[in-house]
Formats: sequence, structure tokens, C-alpha cells
Amino acid sequence: MGNKPVMLIVDDVEINRVVLTQFFQEEYNILEAENGKDALEIIEGQAVSIVLVDMVMPVMDGFQLLGILKTNDQYAGIPVVVMTANNDGDSEARAMEMGAADFITKPYNPTIVRCRIRNVMAREEIEWRRVEQVAQNRQLLEMHQRIELDSLTGIYNREAFYRRAGDMLQGHANTSYSIVYLDISCFKVINDLFRMETGNLILKTAAFYFSMFVGEKGICARIEADHFVLCVPADKLDMDKLIAGVDSTIQSLGISHHIHFYAGVYQVDNAFLPVDQMCDRAHMALNRIKGQYMTRYAFYDNGMRDQMIEEQMIVRNMEYALNEGQFGIVLQPMYNLNSKKIVGAEALVRWNHPKQQISPGKFIPIFESNGFIVRLDRYVWEQACITLRQQIDRGLDVVPVSVNVSRLNFYNSDFMDYLLSLVKKYDIEPRLLKLEITESAYMDNPHQLIAMVRAFRGHGFPVLMDDFGSGFSSLNMLKDLPVDVLKIDMAFVREVGRSSRAGAIMESIVDLGGRLNMEVVVEGVETQEQVDFLESIGCHDIQGYYFAKPLDVESFMGLVERSQKGE
Ligand code: C2E
Ligand code: CA
Ligand code: CA
Repeated sequence: MGNKPVMLIVDDVEINRVVLTQFFQEEYNILEAENGKDALEIIEGQAVSIVLVDMVMPVMDGFQLLGILKTNDQYAGIPVVVMTANNDGDSEARAMEMGAADFITKPYNPTIVRCRIRNVMAREEIEWRRVEQVAQNRQLLEMHQRIELDSLTGIYNREAFYRRAGDMLQGHANTSYSIVYLDISCFKVINDLFRMETGNLILKTAAFYFSMFVGEKGICARIEADHFVLCVPADKLDMDKLIAGVDSTIQSLGISHHIHFYAGVYQVDNAFLPVDQMCDRAHMALNRIKGQYMTRYAFYDNGMRDQMIEEQMIVRNMEYALNEGQFGIVLQPMYNLNSKKIVGAEALVRWNHPKQQISPGKFIPIFESNGFIVRLDRYVWEQACITLRQQIDRGLDVVPVSVNVSRLNFYNSDFMDYLLSLVKKYDIEPRLLKLEITESAYMDNPHQLIAMVRAFRGHGFPVLMDDFGSGFSSLNMLKDLPVDVLKIDMAFVREVGRSSRAGAIMESIVDLGGRLNMEVVVEGVETQEQVDFLESIGCHDIQGYYFAKPLDVESFMGLVERSQKGE
């Protein structure tokens, strides 16, 4: 009995109820009511699958009951079959208009009554299935979206991008597409400096911009952290516009930190390459320009693959190399043209790899992009301190050593503590350890750099501005940044004898340095002609192959010893 559907028979005439009960008692649990009001109470109290209702009743008639049920969201779904007297076509029509499922006429013909009720229930079942199907479809769609879409930004995620971009490329064989891989420079720093929500806002805004940019003809996705990819028809892609657009959109958020997107582009020349490999290629192109401030995007070419393999080798080996002592320093003397004496030296890192020579020009940018540079720099500083201690212990007139300080160090809060601990450990005066910084640190975060430079000098560490003149904010920066020494970028000295403009610029820098109480050093000096020119403009401190190439520590010590004894 328990699992049968419930049929409610509403009729004031008992005999009618008895007859109908006989028809249906095997298939249904039968409930009875004498009028609409009682029926309503039953319906409110329990689940009813179908109602058979007489139209003419005292207290509340069938029309009233039908009206109440069909206008109530909760009960409107219950099928109501009305029972009318023979030849009462008006009532039948009215009841059907009000939402009755069907009618049966008295006196009852058992076969017709059974058939009609069965049909009503069958229709009901079909309808119920349809509703369920719609709900199921909606659920499926939601699930699909949840699987396909990035929950933070609402654009596609990595897997969906691979699938959909693949379909797009296959489906439009006559269109040529580009894959663009975008990354925010130093996004980790943004997360460190601001709250998480700020980082999220930046990502959401970028995603919004990218989806506008690609429009209907392309697709975009966030494939991890702050990495986005686009797949767009090549003729729709204007990279300058894309970069400028996303930059200004993000700038409009008013976050007090420069946020720059960098991009690599792979122009799809083989539509059957898996999309993840296309993305890798675009990523490779991006990696090539990492750390370069002026270049915001690059296009993939096949030479990059070889470079990528080499880079992977470097990354795989760096940790081991540091632990095994494969990194060492060389020292390049700085001379004073007047005194002909060594007045300083720059410590330059070397990777003494057992199998091959890898130049710092190759591995430094990689370490700058993966953060390893911070550890390597500290190692180099310590080596520099060791050579200073050696000079002291040998009783020499100590030649100060300058070390390179990659901009990433400025994001480390214990940077200063580390330097102080080093000079303490080797018992060295801070004035002997000079710090070479580059403009890029200033561009990242001017306020922070200014504060740090003041603090270094406060502790007695001299600060050099390396590669001065190579960036575009050099002069602007000079006004705020109290450094001790300007080291003029090699590019200028190379132009000596070739370009009078470069000469004029150098002369002005030397003059400016004098006025601002900053020393000026020129690096990359290779020829007598360059030396003569530098003397003529009053620049006396030089570093370059003309006097000495970078030397291993022992040779450097010997040179210092000889030069101090000899004169
Ligand atoms: P840099 O700091 O501008 O260093 C000067 C570079 O110029 C050195 O190259 C040096 O060997 C080279 N050089 C010196 N005199 C001459 C010359 O007369 N002619 C020419 N053509 N080159 C000259 P190196 O050692 O290959 O270093 C390249 C760059 O790698 C450095 O440029 C610096 O940016 C970076 N680097 C080197 N060591 C370190 C380090 O310990 N830490 C960090 N963060 N960067 C380093
Ligand atoms: Ca340097
Ligand atoms: Ca330099």
C-alpha cells in the first residue's frame, strides 16, 4: 500500500465516491472529501498525485477548488480531473480553460474513466520527465562551465583553451591565427605589497580586457596565476594596441605600482601542432624579453627552441652548481688615469661549469627571472668580502670592491641585515664594499629604492649607479637618488670617435657628476683613443680591457701587491 500514488476523490455524493474508489483502489491510495474545503485541507496536509473533483458541491464547489489549486504555485502541478454531468459541455469547457487535466462524465463508464485517468497520469509523467530533463541540462551546463571556466576571472581555463583553440584552428583552416602568451612582470611583488584582493582585481580586469579584445573571433584564457593566453586571427592582432590597452585599463584602477604586461607571440604556421606546444612557443618568445623594460613583446622564431633547451639546462643545474662551488668571482680593476693606480675593482660572477663556459650575460637574466639571482648575489657579495679580508690580512692598502645588486634584492626585507652581517662577519668597513645598482630597480619602485639607497649610505656603503644613461629615466632619477658614483654605460664609450653626440653626452655627464658631487667612472674602455678622449673631458676613473680584463682573485691580489710595492 505504502508506495502507491495518492488519489483524492472529491464529491458530496457518497455513492459516486464509492464507485470511483472501486475503479482505482488497486492502483492508488484513495482519499475522500465531501467538498472543496475539506479537499484543500487534505492537499495542504499531504502529497496528492491526482485529484478527481465533482463540479457541483456545497461549501466549496469544484470550480472554486480548481481555481485555488491552479493559482497556487505549490499545487498547480497536481493534475485535476473534473467530473461533470452528461451534456454539461459548458462546465467541461470552463474547467478545461481553468487548467483541468481532463473531464469524465457521469454516469461513469469504467473503461473510459480508467483510460482517461491513465492518459492524464501518462501525460503528467512525460511533463515531469521533461522538466527534469531541463533541470538536468541546466545542471550539466553549469558543471561544464565550472569545468571550463576559471573561477576567478570567468574566462576559459587552461584545458578549455587547449580544446577550444584546437577546434577553432581546425575549423578555420583558411584563417591564420596567432597565439599570444601574456604575463605580468613581478606579479608576486604586487601580491606581497598589496592585499590579495588587489592582485585578484588586476587579474579580473585584465581578463575582462582580453575577452573584449578577442571578441567573437578569438578566445582567451587564464592558464595559471598571472599568465593569460589568447588565440586570435593574425590580421586582427595589433600587439602595440593590445599592450597599450591592457596597461591603460589596469592603470585606471589607480594602483600605486607599475603593472606591466609582457607578451610572446607564436604565429601559427602549423595548425596541427598541439595547442599546448603552441603556447610553449609563445611563452619562449616571452621569456626572451623578460627583464627588458623597453621591449614589451616578441615573436617566436625557431632559434628560440635551442635557446629554451639551453635555459632549461641552466635552471636544472643552478642549485647543484651553487652547492658544489661552481660559481666564483673575478675582479676587474678600476684605474685612475692621473695616479695610474688601482682605485677599485668590480666583482663579476663566473660559472666554472666543468663542461662548458656559460657567460653571465646568459645565466644572469634567467636567474633574474626565476629569483635565483638573490641567492647568487649574496654568494658573490660574500666572496667579495672574503677578498677584502684577504687584502687586509696581507697588509695591503685595501682596494674597495664593488658588487652588483640585482633589483630583485630590493624586495627582500632582510637585505640590509644581510649586508651588515657580512661586513661584521669579515670585520670590514662598509665603505670598502660598494653596491652597484641599475636603473631598473628605480623603475620598479622609486620610493622604495630611494629609501634603501639612503639607508645603505647611512650605514656607510657607497652606492654606484651602473650602466648610467642606458635607460630612459636616467636624468629624472638623478634628481631623487643620492648615489655616490655614476658608472657611464659602455655604449657611450664605444661611440667615441664615431659619434660626436655620444662624446658630448659623456662630457655633460662628467660635468653634471662634478656639480652633484658624484664621482664618474667610465666602463668598457678598450682603446688609447678612448682614454685620450676621457682625459680630455676630465674623466679619470676608468674600467675596461684597456687596463685590465677581469682577473681571478689570486692574479688580482698579485697585481695589487705589485702596484703598491712598485710605486
Ligand atoms: P656589468 O655590471 O655592466 O659588468 C661589466 C661587464 O662588462 C662585465 O661583463 C665585464 O667583463 C665587461 N667588460 C669590462 N670591461 C670591458 C671592456 O673593455 N669591453 C667590453 N666589451 N666588456 C667589458 P660580464 O662579467 O660578462 O658581466 C655581464 C653582466 O652580468 C654585468 O654587466 C652584470 O650586469 C651581470 N653580472 C655579472 N656578475 C654579476 C653578479 O654577481 N650579480 C649580478 N646581479 N649581475 C652580475
Ligand atoms: Ca656592474
Ligand atoms: Ca655596467
